[in-house]
Amino acid sequence: IALANRGIQGLQPYQPGKPIEELERELGLRNVVKLASNENPLGPPASALRAYRNAAEDLHLYPDAGGFELKACLSAGLAVSPAQITLGNGSNDILDLLARVFLDEHSSAVFSQYGFIVYPIATQAVGATAKVVPAKDWGHDLPAMAAAVDESTRLVFIANPNNPTGTCLGEEALRQFMAAVPERVVVVLDEAYAEYVGDDAYPDGVALLSDYPNLVVTRTFSKAFGLAGLRVGYAVSHPQIADLLNRVRAPFNVSVPAMAAAVAAYTDMAYLARSREVNEAGMAQFTKGLAELGLAFIPSAGNFITVQMPGAALPYYQALLHKGVIVRPIGVYGMPDHLRISIGLAEDNARCLTALKHVLAEGV
Ligand code: PMP
Repeated sequence: IALANRGIQGLQPYQPGKPIEELERELGLRNVVKLASNENPLGPPASALRAYRNAAEDLHLYPDAGGFELKACLSAGLAVSPAQITLGNGSNDILDLLARVFLDEHSSAVFSQYGFIVYPIATQAVGATAKVVPAKDWGHDLPAMAAAVDESTRLVFIANPNNPTGTCLGEEALRQFMAAVPERVVVVLDEAYAEYVGDDAYPDGVALLSDYPNLVVTRTFSKAFGLAGLRVGYAVSHPQIADLLNRVRAPFNVSVPAMAAAVAAYTDMAYLARSREVNEAGMAQFTKGLAELGLAFIPSAGNFITVQMPGAALPYYQALLHKGVIVRPIGVYGMPDHLRISIGLAEDNARCLTALKHVLAEGV
């Protein structure tokens, strides 16, 4: 351990939820419902599955390292130049590239308390200092974050909507923030859940890029496009930032079938519409059901909802697990009394609400 660089020595690894099969074996249960990793409950788009299978013919070949086809598709959809796009092995890969490009032991990154857990990991891994700014109403306190930027700051991470709290920022607040931050600081707007946001006032980060050359928008195919297992994400930025990211990007970081499936999913408007519809209906089911159970929750713009339990959340998590419902305890975010629940299909949401009702009645 002493051989690792100092940032990495003190690092805790990202803790993913366990796969369903493993938990079913451990618990001796079947038909376990997993609402823990903000995955798309519809399964992958059929269009993407077909493209994935066709692409398997080319598995003996390296992927197109420039990602020409996927970049062309994204560039048409987003009305940006392909030179502004960086492809990643999931958007986590992009967050990591950003940290490697802009941070070092002498610099700092600013992000919010309750911000996505990969920000502190990526920051610490390169030995940089994390400046964690207290949250406001569970969301980003942008004026306080702007005030936290100092000479050492090279990066700011903002998740909009934020995971795990589901909070969302409006355009005016973001513009004021960008105006308050010096242009030498790169601001990362992580829009992993952008496609789910129903509010018309939600700012499209990509549309802001022309006003702010120091803005980087990251998005993913893992959520609304239903391809979390394939690992495809991307950044949209000024071409010079894309050029820097490209210098450290591992060659061939996105696989042949992943790129093919992503192209198909991106143009499958029917699947995307269905993703949104199912999420909206599931969110309504949860907000109503949780209110009936007397549980407070943080209003969420994503595909998950974070619920305040009557006390420490871990025993409730365990009790739900024994009823065959997996949700996410978020003590690692400093929220030990909350559980994050991903929005699933109606019957899975109903099972979760019923299980919650029982564990509340039985006590933990
Ligand atoms: N950003 C946020 C806010 C997320 O919640 C996630 C997924 N948990 C990601 C980025 C990364 O997703 P992926 O690497 O699958 O694109």
